[in-house]
Amino acid sequence: MTSPSTFAPVAGRLFVGGEWLAPRDDFASRNPANLDEVVGTFPQATEAEVASAVDAARAAFPAWRRTSRILRAEAFDRLAQLVKRDTDALATLMARECGKNLTECRAEVIEGLHMIQYVFGVGRTGVYGEVVASEIAEKDAFTRRKPWGVVAVVTPWNFPFAVPLWMLGPSLLEGNTCVFKPSEETPAIAQRLVELFVEAGFPKGTVNLVQGSGPVGEALVKNPAVNVVCFTGSYAVGERIQQVSATIPNRIVAAEMGGKNAVIVCDDARFDLAVNAGILSAFKTTGQRCVSASRIIVHESLIDRYARAFVEQAARLRFGDPLDASNFAGPLVNRKGVEKVLSYNALAKKEGVKVLADGGELGGKGCFLSPFIYQANASAGTRVTHEEVFGPHVALIPFKSDEEAAAIYNDTEYGLSMAVITESYRKMRFFRDECDYGMGYVNLPSIGAEVHLPFGGVKKSGNGHPAPRALVDAVTHRTAFTVNHGTDIKMAQGLATAIDGAPA
Ligand code: NAD
Repeated sequence: MTSPSTFAPVAGRLFVGGEWLAPRDDFASRNPANLDEVVGTFPQATEAEVASAVDAARAAFPAWRRTSRILRAEAFDRLAQLVKRDTDALATLMARECGKNLTECRAEVIEGLHMIQYVFGVGRTGVYGEVVASEIAEKDAFTRRKPWGVVAVVTPWNFPFAVPLWMLGPSLLEGNTCVFKPSEETPAIAQRLVELFVEAGFPKGTVNLVQGSGPVGEALVKNPAVNVVCFTGSYAVGERIQQVSATIPNRIVAAEMGGKNAVIVCDDARFDLAVNAGILSAFKTTGQRCVSASRIIVHESLIDRYARAFVEQAARLRFGDPLDASNFAGPLVNRKGVEKVLSYNALAKKEGVKVLADGGELGGKGCFLSPFIYQANASAGTRVTHEEVFGPHVALIPFKSDEEAAAIYNDTEYGLSMAVITESYRKMRFFRDECDYGMGYVNLPSIGAEVHLPFGGVKKSGNGHPAPRALVDAVTHRTAFTVNHGTDIKMAQGLATAIDGAPA
């Protein structure tokens, strides 16, 4: 589906303590739209290399922490200019490496840029600390945030530019130094991002890059000199990281994980908007967003009409070359992703759902799949309507009452995102309050992020640090700082201050 590549393969390197190590070709990153195309070859970092990256970050920490917060923020201003200069090249590399359509990749680069701009902006304002009252008039009291030290940033393949910036940005701004372990599916775009950090002038050791698969991430997470792990990815890996981290004193983990999201279509919904919202939620990024909806919960009065329109629209979607911006979406990220979705399609049939569109492989050299759509009953307790599939696999589920719709929505172990399509402010408010989610949308698809808003979830979807503002809580600790302007010592709560115990 793609023409032979004219791009030279990237020679992958690790970046440790301000030095690019010699390239190695331990593993290849391939274009999922054409598996013959090698985007680059990369080193799988050894345990010793991971340890030296952590040591380099630790060594760089004191000087970076002492650097003015505003100067740290200004480094992000330089980074913003470079991302603007390279937007198209970054989007193209991303499209070739992870298979997302060029328009989505461009939007992701812009989202990364917005995060950089946000970080630059809050450098001069925001959340650094507060002046608070003291019980003693002569005292000034402050709360101040201080960085923890070394932050490990472990990221998924599906947002390989913006998600690392969500975590690297606030961590570095607050004075931490970082070791970045990107997904093994997207090492080239990660390397390019780190090259831009270097060009922007971030000092040696503040940003380090280790590449490779799960064991590299695990070696990083097991390193006791890492203070904070910022993780985004699947629940299985997030759970493992939290378990490993529980054995390390004072380890902080911020984990953003998977979802089993839904669009709820009420009986008063604008019909065309509801169909469009469902299609975008289910199939944008080929269903591989953390917020993708694999459940469309539809009022019973609309279900037959909705199912017909939804299947018809889905049949018109073009899944093809990510570099052709006119395609709706691209391939799955790899063969493993294809096998996983196909196994869930087969499971759905085994579980007795009513198949409306029997999706399957589209052939060729890429990982392309067509949509699999079915109708399921909430009462059947099927696995396919409860587990994250991460592909073009979607259930339409009828409901009778709003209470039932909220109960169906909540009946998963996840709680990431929810969209409701309604014209009624009462219904909107009901679902806003009754559903468990981190991101709620009204008359919108269950996709979309703006960097100044929280982005995270509850239950198995996240542990409460939705980037970027709340992430500051994870990457800093609060200190109290009290200054006496009097000439003698007075204590709060009437505590005696004379040496002999009598009040002074
Ligand atoms: P993944 O969990 O397989 O991998 C994520 C990262 O963890 C990769 O860098 C991987 O190498 C690393 N890793 C694997 N095993 C490890 C271990 N034992 N210790 C440390 N690190 C380890 O996820 P993925 O397939 O790259 O991404 C898809 C998942 O991410 C989906 O579940 C999706 O919902 C989720 N996601 C969530 C959000 C969010 O904000 N909530 C955003 C994007 C993606």
